[in-house]
Amino acid sequence: MSFLKEYDNEIFELCEKELERQTNHLEMIASENFTLPAVMEAMGSVFTNKYAEGYPNKRYYGGCEYADGVEQLAIERACELFGCKYANVQPHSGSQANAAVYAGLLKAGDKLLGMDLSHGGHLTHGSKPSFSGQNYSSFTYGVELDGRMDYDKIMEIAKAVKPKIIVCGASAYAREIDFKKFREIADEVGAIMFADIAHVAGLVAAGEHPSPFPHAHVVTTTTHKTLAGPRGGMIMTNDEDIAKKMNSAIFPGLQGGPLVHVIAAKAVGFKYNLSPEWKEYAKQVKTNARILGEVMMSRGYDVVSGGTDNHLILVSFVGREISGKDADAALENAGITINKNTVPGETRSPFVTSGIRIGSAALTSRGMKDKEFTFIANKIADVLDDINNTKLQETIKEELKALAQNFIIYNQSTY
Ligand code: PLP
Repeated sequence: MSFLKEYDNEIFELCEKELERQTNHLEMIASENFTLPAVMEAMGSVFTNKYAEGYPNKRYYGGCEYADGVEQLAIERACELFGCKYANVQPHSGSQANAAVYAGLLKAGDKLLGMDLSHGGHLTHGSKPSFSGQNYSSFTYGVELDGRMDYDKIMEIAKAVKPKIIVCGASAYAREIDFKKFREIADEVGAIMFADIAHVAGLVAAGEHPSPFPHAHVVTTTTHKTLAGPRGGMIMTNDEDIAKKMNSAIFPGLQGGPLVHVIAAKAVGFKYNLSPEWKEYAKQVKTNARILGEVMMSRGYDVVSGGTDNHLILVSFVGREISGKDADAALENAGITINKNTVPGETRSPFVTSGIRIGSAALTSRGMKDKEFTFIANKIADVLDDINNTKLQETIKEELKALAQNFIIYNQSTY
């Protein structure tokens, strides 16, 4: 960091402030995590200088012998981790990975069936403002008022729509996804089954959530959420023909040179995901989310679906005066970062919402366990119980800052 301080103090100071924010606030956005210093070191490595268009041993540039080694290791580790035959580790993001799945397997205008954004799906699952809703003819399924998917209903929708591809996987769904059922639905209507496991991938890797393999034809994930690796995406499959299509869709279809430094960091992340400690981490992530749900319910809050099977909970304020937007702002003032979220039976706009999404992955990476999560969940309820009490928010912010100081994850020398 001393190079940066010396060369560009403005950016250095912003890094310092961000480190302070990440240290003193409680990060509970369900899609965020803290990665290892070793992952950050790989991301800042000399591979940032290297062009390596193509794939290992089939490059369009010279000098790729070490880049090949990096990408090969990342692929091997990814396949071992998820128990699949083929992996493309080049997507710059989860959205790029999803774009490649569609580009490789669909034609413009083909029918796509995915989870509605307002029910917990992702923009790239067919939402109209996204390429997925613009380039393809998109249809949606959702969750019931109890916050769970009804697979019989999804079957009926699929039969009526007859999509070319069915997307399963979500950004805000607290229950296990039944990939076997999705494959049955896909088979019934002759569709490709595509599982986007961006949110639960870290749990899948640890055996703490059912795997999309062997059911899905193609699987994507991000590497930075519950997997706790660098920001990026990945595509996996057991089908050689699909694997070839994915490779062409990523390069030269959608991307140019891969980010070799990020691929190196992905490989380091996968090494962590393959370790025995990872299993312990993933178990604790689930325990911590369960505690959040239990405490919120014991404090009178409506937790969508009555709890969680994964790393997140959704709290619904439907029928209450408080909105997701109000809760988000009040919790931020108290030093807790979450996000507002639409919930079943939603009556407010997506900019206001009637719910919040709270995740456990990032604070679990800081080493927080049952005791800390019970304490934090009660503080969240205290803030929500008296949402306009800014004095209370200030007091809680100080208490949580003191707690956070016992769980320091980075110091200056490691970023
Ligand atoms: N898929 C799902 C289910 C997600 O939740 C997200 C991000 O939140 C993505 C894909 C997109 O990932 P990225 O932000 O890396 O494009």
